[in-house]
Amino acid sequence: MNDYLDFAQNLQTKITGSVLTDAPMSDYTTWKIGGNADVLAIPQNPAELAAILTMATEAKIPLMIIGKGSDLLVSDSGIRGLVVQIGEKLNNIEWLAESKVMVQAGVSMSSLAWECAKRNLSGLEWAVGIPGNLGGALIMNAGAYGSNISSCVTKIEVMEYNGKRKWLNRDELQFGYRHGFTAGTSVVINIELQLTEGDRTVSELHMRQILQTRTKNQPLEYPSAGSVFKNPEGDHAGRLIEAAGCKGMRIGDAQVSLKHGNFIVNLGNAKASDVLALISDVQKKVWEKFAVQLETEVRLIG
Ligand SMILES: Cc1cc2nc3c(=O)[nH]c(=O)nc-3n(C[C@H](O)[C@H](O)[C@H](O)COP(=O)(O)OP(=O)(O)OC[C@H]3O[C@@H](n4cnc5c(N)ncnc54)[C@H](O)[C@@H]3O)c2cc1C
Repeated sequence: MNDYLDFAQNLQTKITGSVLTDAPMSDYTTWKIGGNADVLAIPQNPAELAAILTMATEAKIPLMIIGKGSDLLVSDSGIRGLVVQIGEKLNNIEWLAESKVMVQAGVSMSSLAWECAKRNLSGLEWAVGIPGNLGGALIMNAGAYGSNISSCVTKIEVMEYNGKRKWLNRDELQFGYRHGFTAGTSVVINIELQLTEGDRTVSELHMRQILQTRTKNQPLEYPSAGSVFKNPEGDHAGRLIEAAGCKGMRIGDAQVSLKHGNFIVNLGNAKASDVLALISDVQKKVWEKFAVQLETEVRLIG
């Protein structure tokens, strides 16, 4: 029995965005794994987000924010309380002077990279092919090919769970390797990026090359969450996993990709428990062979 039905019905009278009960998180994660969220709400604009956050806070309902769900492993028992998806309705892009751009947190990393290139703005080419949104990228400090989002963030706007909005400058955000802004009880809603003047042809060629490399090296034909483990200092998790003989290891429908050791793919009906067991087996094997403790990059929730 869902404890939050009244809350969900009441919330739906306040916003035009969807409010779903018993929402399968497998539909909201790129791994296509996860049990149900009691309630899932998708705000259409910041005012609706404020309504959702304040109502949940007043009702003392646990809150979880997600973007594209491309770095998340949701447990098989799902998520108690309310999940808020910052999705494609929060997708405004404002082109500012001096090669700056203000983007809402629901903008897709990949499409922003293409839009920037079209306007002869350079600095985000590396982001092409990353399936997450800007909000998620800021939290994870997403990056690739030697660059990451922190190198171009100038300021962000967050909304606290009480609905109040505030700006934070870059120096108030503590970025590290695959570790970005710690949102706590707030939601990222706007991000300002500083880009540089570039050349559309050069940027687009670079992005097409990146996409070719991703297609060649990554198992994009299967649901996944990208790299499961962080790279340990001075090495690559994928190399260690392969050298420890883990490629192809399988539990249920979860498999260490044959193409890329740091990807665990869902071959069909993988459960979160299969993925967790596989993560633990891989960590054990890598530890036994190299005395390196692999840390997960993906976030485990629920
Ligand atoms: C095929 C594939 C390739 C990938 N390649 C890369 C890569 O090259 N480099 C890389 O860094 N990552 C990569 N990823 C992982 C992932 O796409 C990134 O980490 C991405 O930035 C996550 O964004 P998201 O919108 O999916 O966030 P989610 O996975 O939905 O959430 C991630 C975290 O951010 C929080 N969050 C999300 N939005 C907000 C918000 N607006 N306010 C507050 N908190 C929020 C969530 O609570 C969660 O803790 C890849 C994933 C896949 C599936």
